[in-house]
Parts: sequence; structure tokens; C-alpha cells
Amino acid sequence: RSRLLAADSDEPVTANSYESSSNAIPIDGSMWPDRFPAQDHCSRCGLCETSFVSKVTDACAFLGEGMARMDSMEPKVHGRSRVLDDLAWSSSADYSSSIKDEGRFGVLQEPIQLAKGTETQAQWTGCVTGIALAMLESNMVDAVVCIASQNDDSSASSWAVPEPILARTSEEVLRGRGVKPALAPSLKVLDQIKNDSTIQKLLFCGVGCAVQAFRAIQDDLKLKEVYVLGTNCADNSPTPEAANNFIEQGLSVKSESVLGYEFMQDFKVHVKTTDSYVTKPYFSLPGTIAEPSIAKSCLACFDYTNGLADVVVGYMGAPLDSNSRMDESFQTIAIRNERGVQMVQTAVKASRLKLHGTAPGKGGHESLSSATVAADSIVLSMVGEKDPPEQGMPALMGEIMAFAMRNLGPKGINFARYSVDYHLLRNYLHILNEWGEARTTMALPASAKEIVEHYLQTDSSFQEIVTK
Ligand code: SF4
Ligand code: SF4
Repeated sequence: RSRLLAADSDEPVTANSYESSSNAIPIDGSMWPDRFPAQDHCSRCGLCETSFVSKVTDACAFLGEGMARMDSMEPKVHGRSRVLDDLAWSSSADYSSSIKDEGRFGVLQEPIQLAKGTETQAQWTGCVTGIALAMLESNMVDAVVCIASQNDDSSASSWAVPEPILARTSEEVLRGRGVKPALAPSLKVLDQIKNDSTIQKLLFCGVGCAVQAFRAIQDDLKLKEVYVLGTNCADNSPTPEAANNFIEQGLSVKSESVLGYEFMQDFKVHVKTTDSYVTKPYFSLPGTIAEPSIAKSCLACFDYTNGLADVVVGYMGAPLDSNSRMDESFQTIAIRNERGVQMVQTAVKASRLKLHGTAPGKGGHESLSSATVAADSIVLSMVGEKDPPEQGMPALMGEIMAFAMRNLGPKGINFARYSVDYHLLRNYLHILNEWGEARTTMALPASAKEIVEHYLQTDSSFQEIVTK
């Protein structure tokens, strides 16, 4: 049985203590992560800060079966499981055409599409905000759970302090604009929802680990209609402080001037500030700054594509034109079921979202995915080969490297395939190292197993890392 720490004691207890306690004491966020059941792998999704902590062993994405629960939940949520052998490899004849690639991207009503929103102050073009606004304004939902800046201020100084809100007006939804690069307790408002009889139709916006926990307790909220709008998500910072540290020391930009930043398809980090737009090659980031800016939960995550949301908005699969800014680029929309079709149609009808056809792609991705795992400083330090490099490449070298990778590497939807595979392989190594083989086998969703198995069979450099 799992040995977990009790909320009110330093004594280790069993997981069953949470299951059997109808009066479980919510754990305060200030105790994070040591007192949380998933401890250092807790993504602080917010569940344990509510009375729903009593469900933690069935809901947490990092306890027991964890993310492998997705396999049994997909049919409940979408009416069917993803087609596991709908999996695109560069040797497939239809690699770059409109194959859905459900084995990698999850259940899809149709192939992933390109989209643009109409919001001017979003980090991108505001697809998420646009869908949420359209649903609220058309009374499709009574309230929206989204993440806002803690002190009701969209200015740069507070952008990195994420707190969930239960938005009931357009103005409140607009507080959710902009990507929050640190872990955010989206589920913290669960008790508020449960105790408010005026909320019967809800839109929940969140990342994969929070959506998994939400889906596990959704029926207990006894709502008439529930819609889930997800974002693709990888490598969040453990705390706002770590995100700020990454910005100031890694990107050499004053954090109070930053409106948003993102790792983009041109192998550069793009930073939007109050008065400039800065880019820096991945390769020039110091390893000692990059490593602590990723939460340990995100190294044990196998739901980059947010498989249990009705609709998922992302950007990794969208083409990035030369010199494009993130707030001018396409985003991607994955529609997983009929509820998702309704959500997107509502936003299109309200002119808050425009679709631009199937996301195109070119260039093979597998060799780059395994090469990135082999070169990853996190992996190298984890397997004890060497410490992460103190300094990144000099700026000019980094630019040359980014230029070469951009021209030689995968583009569009194939870049998303690269990114999904790289994170799956890296995270497989992480949990194998941290949790051992038996728990890894239990916690890996079937789709992740298929992809890892493919590399184990076909890629000698990956085989070498695994057997070290
Ligand atoms: Fe609780 Fe969520 Fe952390 Fe799991 S990830 S321990 S459910 S707060
Ligand atoms: Fe959660 Fe995974 Fe995103 Fe981390 S990368 S915040 S674990 S969905």
C-alpha cells in the first residue's frame, strides 16, 4: 500500500486514510509539496485544498495508476477510446497528410485544425478566452473556472501568480487572458461550485493533470452540463518564483515587464514584454537555470495533449512563419467529441474564433525526439553522466544552431509529434528512475506505452540510455 503523509500529521499513513475519511481536512497550499499526497510529484492541481481530498487516491494523476486511468476514462468522457494504432511515423505513407494520429494526440472528432482568436491582450490570439466568452455570453454555461492573476491585475507585475476564479461575467473571464507558466490550483474552487445552486452549467478550463482529477469527481458536483476546455501543457514551473527566476536569469529580462513567454517552433524562447519582443535560442539557456524551472510533476506527466478535455487549444502543431510573433501566429484546436463541436461552433458563430483548415506538417520527427532525449541535461544529470551545463551556448552559436534546426527539423504538426514524443521518452526515463519498473508499467497510459515501445524497438540511442 502507498505510504502517504497525513494532512495533519508527520506520520506516514496509507492511501486508505484519505479514502475512508468523510471529513478529510483540506491541505493548505502553504504546505506544498511535502504534506500533499503526491509529495514532490504533486502538480498542486487544487483538489487537496478542498473537501474532495477524500477522493485523492482515485483522482490524483500522480498516485497509484495515475495517468493510466485515462484509458478507462476516455470511453466515459468521449464515448470511445482513442484508436491506438492510428499512430503516425515518418515511414507511414500518409505521415504529413490528414491522418488524425489519435495514438499520439488522443480521441479526435476530426484532424487537428488551425485557428485564430480575436483577443488583443492575450498571450496568443485568445482562442481559449474567445471560446469561454462565447459560451458564457450565449448562456451555454453559468460560470467558467479559469486561472487569473491573483490580485485582479493584468499588469506585468502580477502575471506569474496564478489563482483559480469562478468567472460569471465577461470581465472576469478576461482576467484569465495570458498563459500562466507556473503550477496553478484550478480545482481549488470545487467546494464553491458544489455549494452554489445557481451554477448548473459549468465550463472548466485547465491543463491535463487538473482535467484528469476534475473528470474523476465531476459527477459528485451534480451539475446539469459540464464542458471542459483544455490546453496542451508541458514543463510548467513549480512556483511563480521559479518562473520569475527563469525569466530574469535565463532570459535576462526584468520579470515585471514580461507579459508572456513561450518555447516556440523556431527553437527559441519568445518573450513579450511591455515595450519589446525578445527571442533567445533554447541552446543558449543555462542548464542550471532551465532544470529547476520545471516542476517534478511535469517530468512524470503523460498527458501533454490533455486527452480528457472536450476541446484542446495548443500551439506546438501550428506553423510558425519566419519572424512570427506568438500573438500573430496560428494556434491549434483539437475537437474530441460532440460537446467540443458545440463549444467551437458557439465561438465561431460569435465571431470570437476563426478556423483555418487542417494543421499541415513536414519533416521527420523521430530521430530528433530521441536525439533531444540523449542531449537533455536533465536526463544526463539524472542518469549520473554529468551535471547540467552551467552556461548555454554563446548567443551567435545558439542562433546558428536554431537556424539549422529550424530548416532541417520537423515543422507544423510534425513539430508537435516531435515534442510529444520527446516529452514522453524523457518522462518515461524519469519515472523509471524515480518509481521503478513495476510502478512505471502501472502508471503509463496505453498510448505512451506504444510510443515508448516503438523507440525501444527502433532507436539504438534510446535503447542505450534505458539500459544504462
Ligand atoms: Fe492532490 Fe492534485 Fe497534488 Fe494529486 S496533484 S496530490 S490531487 S493537489
Ligand atoms: Fe500538469 Fe502535465 Fe502540465 Fe505539468 S505538464 S502542469 S503535470 S499537465
